[in-house]
Amino acid sequence: MLRSPFLVSLALFGAVPLGALRAAEAPPAYTEILKIDVHSHIFEDVPAIHALFRRINVRTINVCVPGGDGQLATMDRIAFELYRAQPQLYPVTTTFDLRGRDEPGWAARTIAWLDAAFARGAVAVKIWKEVGIEIKNRDGKFILPDDPLFDPIYAHLAKVGKPLHAHLAEPIDAWLALDPNSSHYGYYSQNPQWHLYGKPEYPSHAAIIAARDNIMRKHPALVVVGAHLGSLEHDLDGIAERLARYPNFQIEVAARTRNLTRHPSEKVRALFLRFPDRIMYGVDAGWMPHRRDTPPTDQQRQAHAASLEVRYRADFDYYAGQGETTYNGRKTEALNLPRAVLEKFYHANAERIYRLDAAWSRR
Ligand SMILES: [Zn+2]
Repeated sequence: MLRSPFLVSLALFGAVPLGALRAAEAPPAYTEILKIDVHSHIFEDVPAIHALFRRINVRTINVCVPGGDGQLATMDRIAFELYRAQPQLYPVTTTFDLRGRDEPGWAARTIAWLDAAFARGAVAVKIWKEVGIEIKNRDGKFILPDDPLFDPIYAHLAKVGKPLHAHLAEPIDAWLALDPNSSHYGYYSQNPQWHLYGKPEYPSHAAIIAARDNIMRKHPALVVVGAHLGSLEHDLDGIAERLARYPNFQIEVAARTRNLTRHPSEKVRALFLRFPDRIMYGVDAGWMPHRRDTPPTDQQRQAHAASLEVRYRADFDYYAGQGETTYNGRKTEALNLPRAVLEKFYHANAERIYRLDAAWSRR
């Protein structure tokens, strides 16, 4: 039986005592730590996945994305059906439709849509990289995420206390020549539309990051969750600088644990110890049968569940384990984060930022 998340978050709300940060501790048991994956895309009711999550003590936040391709209504339907069936496993981060953004009243209609999603239990709102490197305004210019178009929406989210889950920009590798040694080589060699090297018409990485930072400056009461290490996976100092500068900035590690493992472990560990309340766990695994032409087989569902289990376990071995570990086929030094920091990273921060006690108590 799982512990009550409410009790756990109360117990861990305080600061981490300094002594706890220094001592090397034996890692806690894998299933003992509640793991909230704040960046998940599970768009089918798969009993094998529910069973896995219960067995290994994982909860997810199921993220609807993207907003501009006409799939929002389908994603919304599936995500909320899952949430109603399994409220503890699949709280929903919704998103909004970018189409119609040039029409009068778009912001007000978007806010009404979001409020309706919040009333059904949505815990946050996703904004995706299409804002910055895909969608354009009527003058044919790329729309940056701090465009005044979005200000009424950001102000509303700040007012109602819902975080903006922001996957803005891309890894710096998107702007660099393809490099087989990069952990993003597979993605950019297979998704050339997102590989912006040699395409000067696109905004730079720095311009999009500056626009993202400007949202936090303009809306200090808006909580911004920077997906994928805030697209600063190559620059731990840049991450620390922004966490220090913007108290409303949080980050999550989804699909970037492999980048962390390539930095010196001491430096990564120092980041977690300096900002124990600001970093959340995530994986970014996608299971989206509604985007496929043919439905998945049960064997494929089982295989996806198995691959999730492998991922959660490998991540835990890196964050909690001790000594040398292998991650994505490369040797690295495990972080061996203190228990108190692990509890914050793995669930207490997410419970606080996404107000999960309320979401979980809904039926
Ligand atoms: Zn994602």
